[in-house]
Amino acid sequence: MTQRHITIVGAGQSGLQLGIGLLDAGYQVTTISNRTPEEIAEGKVASSQCIFHNALEHERDLGLDFWPDAPTVDGISFTIPHPELPGEKAISWASRLDHHAKSIDQRVKFPKFMEEFTARGGELVFEDAGVAELEKYTQNSDLVIVAAGKGEIAQLFTRDAERSTYDAPQRALALTYVKGLKPREEYSAVSFNLIPGVGEYFVFPALTTSGPCEIMVFEGVPGGPMDTWKGLSPEEHLENSKNILNTFLPWEAERATDVELTDPNGVLQGRFAPTVRHPIATLPSGRQVLGLADVVVLNDPITGQGSNNASKCAASYLASIIAHDGQAFDAPFMQATFERYWDYAQHVAHWTNALLAPPPPHVLELLGAANSEPDIAHRFANGFNHPPEFQEWFMYPDKAADYLAGLSAAKVS
Ligand SMILES: Cc1cc2nc3c(=O)[nH]c(=O)nc-3n(C[C@H](O)[C@H](O)[C@H](O)COP(=O)(O)OP(=O)(O)OC[C@H]3O[C@@H](n4cnc5c(N)ncnc54)[C@H](O)[C@@H]3O)c2cc1C
Repeated sequence: MTQRHITIVGAGQSGLQLGIGLLDAGYQVTTISNRTPEEIAEGKVASSQCIFHNALEHERDLGLDFWPDAPTVDGISFTIPHPELPGEKAISWASRLDHHAKSIDQRVKFPKFMEEFTARGGELVFEDAGVAELEKYTQNSDLVIVAAGKGEIAQLFTRDAERSTYDAPQRALALTYVKGLKPREEYSAVSFNLIPGVGEYFVFPALTTSGPCEIMVFEGVPGGPMDTWKGLSPEEHLENSKNILNTFLPWEAERATDVELTDPNGVLQGRFAPTVRHPIATLPSGRQVLGLADVVVLNDPITGQGSNNASKCAASYLASIIAHDGQAFDAPFMQATFERYWDYAQHVAHWTNALLAPPPPHVLELLGAANSEPDIAHRFANGFNHPPEFQEWFMYPDKAADYLAGLSAAKVS
């Protein structure tokens, strides 16, 4: 049988991981990238890319664990400042992850994955794909997959209004990659701070182009005091980061007194609407292409799930393609492949979209109870690895009440 040829547009987390998986499974794979490895390595940061255990396992399954000594994220801490007492905490707890998470700067990871993709026999083509190029790829491939992240080409896939919760950006996003941040005591963690009405701030260790660093992530409510990033130079961006911590989170400001930027490209600001798209785009010729990862399910980074989703989507599509061996990659196959992933991804979107809204009373009760109940803190922290678990206790008032009642009963007996 002739080898089947799959073209993937976009050499990012999902495209490279899927491409390498397909090569290992015996497919001929071409990946299209609009950036060279050098351009990525020398360019701007794009993400904080913290990846939890299950998604890391998909990379490890493909032999892609190239940074075993990179800093690990060993827990999650959660803090809400006191609304009336400046400098005091209303809620504050932490829990260890059962397995560590890791963040490898995409400027480090993608060039290495590209090198590996080529070494395993993949063809890497550098061009900025548009409709004409997609038409060309569909003529010489059995399947064309678009894994272009937030790239413009994703607009070819129409928004699914039923599955999308929001139609506008819910947060003003900013990243600040720094060195010199004081480490958390006891164990490393994503230190997550929620300032009601203002936004969220989280910070955690990572590996960047110059070695270990910490990544500050700001999620400002649009128009609020954390939506203050536009037009800043890198140094002003760093100053703004410190000012926000001084104003709202003195315990985080105290850790950041001596920080410096990792490099002038270690800053980012932007915003986008979380969007679910229909997974199939039809080209003018009538030929069809399949969307992957952020192209089809784009979440706000508040829960740090995009790279995790990209890894899980790539693993899910890989399994669907292999299981479909020898049959046509037609529209029913494309739709079924997406629905298999959506069975998982809908829960991530549901939880992420819920955290973008003001917390309802049952969520405040759970987060408050975690102050004195380690089981809740542990369950919340480890939910980041597998968010569908939140459906069982966190997302609905009745399930939250049952869970809390069960914890109290266990204490009494
Ligand atoms: C501020 C911020 C913080 C984040 N933090 C986290 C986090 O902590 N944890 C987490 O899991 N996720 C996080 N994410 C999300 C995560 O980075 C993305 O969801 C993930 O990278 C998506 O993977 P992907 O494969 O879909 O696309 P990408 O990894 O973005 O790759 C797409 C690639 O396609 C290329 N491309 C685009 N258009 C074209 C074209 N026309 N032709 C050829 N190539 C093209 C791009 O150059 C890019 O390299 C964050 C995102 C942001 C914005």
